[in-house]
Amino acid sequence: MARKIIVGRSIGFCFGVTKAVTTAKKVLNEYGCLATFGDLVHNPIVMSELKEKGLRVIENISEARNYPFIIRSHGLPPDVLQKLKQYATKIYDATCPFVKKVQNLVKDLSSRRYFIFLIGDPEHPEIKAMKKIAGDNSMVIRPYQKFDTSSIHLKKWAIIAQTTISLDLYRTAIKKIINTLPAEKLTIFNTICPVSIKRQSEALELAQKVDALIVVGGRKSSNTRKLVHIGRKVNKNTFLIESSSEVKNLNLANFEKIGIISGASTDVRCIREMIDVLSDHPAQKKYRR
Ligand code: SF4
Repeated sequence: MARKIIVGRSIGFCFGVTKAVTTAKKVLNEYGCLATFGDLVHNPIVMSELKEKGLRVIENISEARNYPFIIRSHGLPPDVLQKLKQYATKIYDATCPFVKKVQNLVKDLSSRRYFIFLIGDPEHPEIKAMKKIAGDNSMVIRPYQKFDTSSIHLKKWAIIAQTTISLDLYRTAIKKIINTLPAEKLTIFNTICPVSIKRQSEALELAQKVDALIVVGGRKSSNTRKLVHIGRKVNKNTFLIESSSEVKNLNLANFEKIGIISGASTDVRCIREMIDVLSDHPAQKKYRR
């Protein structure tokens, strides 16, 4: 059976991750060391390459003492950033411009006495930083989580999304908040980044066309997991893998048309390797849409 491999249009690093990885490599080439708080990107392959060059992942800010430091694309809470200034020799800010824009929006809404609902994963670094910026008059909600608004006294409410959440999950959360609405004013912001929206719609489109869809990306990557969630809604043969070495664990024998897409922190080299592994017969067709 001649297998067709269809590769999504938007693959590889998004520009936020490109900025973080490029900056890290540049600093590592210059100093041979660099510290970051938690994983710089949620991709184990990229992380292991950077660690080999001297990247050090720290869990406590004091460990940044005498190191240059890079702020990852998810951003940092203001208090952590303040402490960091005491320790790091130099700080490189690789916060994604989209994340920064949302942080500024949250700051502004908070200063104008809005109660802010942050929709996303409370354990994700982007949301953790956003929550610190929003302060006490805010609540982090997972899309399907139950919540209670009875103790909210502010009259103006705003809803903000994690930049990598899926649109359908965001809509679900918005409807739930609207159902509890005693506020005088409710403002909803679509803060999902355009890269995520584009990749999500491509995932949906491709999942409907192929027999199996492979999503390449880190298991800890929020945007990768959302692509899998979207793919599985229309194609039960949607698989998440981190590297080409995992392809052997998938039973793809009966699939003629296989789609490949990637999360925003997956290096395009990884996709190429994947195509090579899948194209184990010279007669197989490879093409991009
Ligand atoms: S997925 Fe979007 S918000 Fe996240 S780093 Fe990439 S461009 Fe920025």
